[in-house]
Amino acid sequence: MTGRYDVVIAGGGPSGSAAAWQAAQSGARVAVLDKAEFPRDKPCGDGLTARAVSYLQKMGLADEVATYHRVNRVTVFSPSEWELTFPRRPGMPDHGHTVSRTHLDTVLLKHAESAGAEVYQGAEVAGPELDARGRVVGVVLKSGEKVLGDAVIAADGAYSPIKRALKLDSQYNGYSAIAIRSEMNLNRPDNDSLDIYLKLLFQGDQLPGYGWVFPMGGSRFNIGLGYVNSYKNWQSINATQFLGDFLRTLPAEWEVPPIEELKKNKSVRAWRLPMGFTAWPPWRPGVLFAGDALGAGKPVSGAGISKALESGLTAGECAVAALVNGGPDDFTNYEQRMRAAWGREYRRGRFFNKLAGNPAIASAGLKALDNRTFRDLLLKSMYKKAQSPQHT
Ligand SMILES: Cc1cc2nc3c(=O)[nH]c(=O)nc-3n(C[C@H](O)[C@H](O)[C@H](O)COP(=O)(O)OP(=O)(O)OC[C@H]3O[C@@H](n4cnc5c(N)ncnc54)[C@H](O)[C@@H]3O)c2cc1C
Repeated sequence: MTGRYDVVIAGGGPSGSAAAWQAAQSGARVAVLDKAEFPRDKPCGDGLTARAVSYLQKMGLADEVATYHRVNRVTVFSPSEWELTFPRRPGMPDHGHTVSRTHLDTVLLKHAESAGAEVYQGAEVAGPELDARGRVVGVVLKSGEKVLGDAVIAADGAYSPIKRALKLDSQYNGYSAIAIRSEMNLNRPDNDSLDIYLKLLFQGDQLPGYGWVFPMGGSRFNIGLGYVNSYKNWQSINATQFLGDFLRTLPAEWEVPPIEELKKNKSVRAWRLPMGFTAWPPWRPGVLFAGDALGAGKPVSGAGISKALESGLTAGECAVAALVNGGPDDFTNYEQRMRAAWGREYRRGRFFNKLAGNPAIASAGLKALDNRTFRDLLLKSMYKKAQSPQHT
């Protein structure tokens, strides 16, 4: 790594690669630093929403994404079974896909590199480099090497070392889900449905969360569950054991392997999923936060890939625009864009997350959803809202 960069990006997941691709497109000199060697695994449900697909298309990856396993609907068990389709929106795909993150993230990082970004793997960021005024002017690697840039984009994931080192005091800090997944072959045909199981009981309490079964193609499935930390006893939950309990509720004819067997092949992995803007405002002098480091995950569904792509693309664009028009002390342009995109929705989402942490309320909500008349009304208004450009 030689010289000074316009933009230094910590993390080469979807948010970092999208930011790098966008900034490099506008001619900026960009370095992406990731501690991993790609291809690398990232615990995920591997589900791409229609909006995530649209961002990949926007990045010139339409042909690539079309090769992924296609999903056309969501089947919800509440516990009664009902179906959602992806809404039809002008210029938007009406379907999603599933793809292993090992593959997707490698494709995205290569894509950023093809656009001109310099990619450094096995480069672990220890923290930010600050100037005398406390402005971020680069990053320090674990090796001790400094990588300097006019702007730094922290896309270093849920446990962001840059965010931790800056001891960010965000009023929305703390909103997070714990999610765990496993991958396996099942004795059932592939289909085109993302299956969501809303009844998730821990010691009799309905949790604010859900379980999922996502088809990956070739009889392979991603199965997992997630719950929000607004439930007061969330720390008492042993996520692995809980996933094992969930697997046992699935149809016997699928021949779901027991959790002990899945643990042996290392596909069982849990991770945090920050949501609702845990790093608000999304910038400090010299640095912008994107993806999980920003807490960009959607508060209710936990969808994070589309949000990582969107915040990454916006951070890349806003970083370059601010550098050209005034310098790295002020990235208010990014804050304005993020607020306009998700501000209202995330405010409601944080409120909903808190509410759903109360098991009595979560249970009442689930009963209401299980009622067809109520559900039909709700879905009608959801589909209407989905026509708005912001909705995922
Ligand atoms: C179990 C689970 C299931 C999920 N399922 C879905 C789903 O089905 N659909 C969906 O849309 N979202 C899902 N999400 C959310 C989604 O995975 C994340 O929101 C998304 O990965 C965020 O992307 P990112 O680029 O911000 O972070 P990441 O994908 O975590 O990438 C961060 C990158 O930073 C690197 N890094 C970390 N620390 C350092 C360091 N010190 N130095 C250098 N590099 C570093 C990492 O190696 C990594 O490559 C799920 C999350 C979990 C936990």
